[in-house]
Amino acid sequence: MTGDGRLTIPSMKGKCTDAEWQARVDLAACYRLVDLYGMSDMMANHISARVPGEEGVYLINAYGMMYEEITASSLIKVDFDGNILTQPDFGEMNYGINKTAAVIHSAVHEARPEVACVIHCHTWATMALSSLECGLLPITQTAMRFLKAGYHDYQGVALDPQEKASLIADLGQSEALILRNHGVLTVGKSTGEAFNWMHRLELASRAQLAAMACNSPLQKVPQAVLEETWNNYQPTTRRPYGLMEWPALKRKLDRLDPSYRD
Ligand SMILES: [Zn+2]
Ligand SMILES: [Zn+2]
Repeated sequence: MTGDGRLTIPSMKGKCTDAEWQARVDLAACYRLVDLYGMSDMMANHISARVPGEEGVYLINAYGMMYEEITASSLIKVDFDGNILTQPDFGEMNYGINKTAAVIHSAVHEARPEVACVIHCHTWATMALSSLECGLLPITQTAMRFLKAGYHDYQGVALDPQEKASLIADLGQSEALILRNHGVLTVGKSTGEAFNWMHRLELASRAQLAAMACNSPLQKVPQAVLEETWNNYQPTTRRPYGLMEWPALKRKLDRLDPSYRD
């Protein structure tokens, strides 16, 4: 470690394919953005990204690093069975991966090959929402795109590979899964898309909690309008979420601290 509180991690640039390096930079950016937007939980939770062009392999955070210090080279490459394939030299820290990540993230990457990125968060808003029997209500426009979100009942800390089957069945073809009494998960065909879904799920959750706290009846929207709005928000109907935002979000990071690219 250097005196300025930064870990010294050997660069992976040029030591992996260009496609993997790009996936690493985007994934590191996603960790920084999740933290920047107040959705991190110290070093808990995970965001994973499939390695393009390599079957059955994804990148994930080293368990022990804060989201705001994650870099492209610090990410660990694992296979669907949780075996570590490439791991940086963390010196005396000797960081590995969190076991629950191997269960939840490998299940999704294995079942949904089109998914490039899986984000799993425990924010106060999504945890509170996940504990409500009513689930996420389509009471705001932002919440309406989550009309078909999945729900997964709590079965204890996700350490048992047997939970994989029910997890992916509950996610189905959706972009979002409410992990009841736990948190949430979003997926995307790109890292930017997955981040956009998570950002909006967080906002929808906060808005619902604020509205429910007002002790006033909630204004309902007719089901036909909800269905039409949901359809208008589908990536097949419009430009997929996050494609326009992603380069701008990375510019924001570059102005603040470009070290995620290291
Ligand atoms: Zn969790
Ligand atoms: Zn996770």
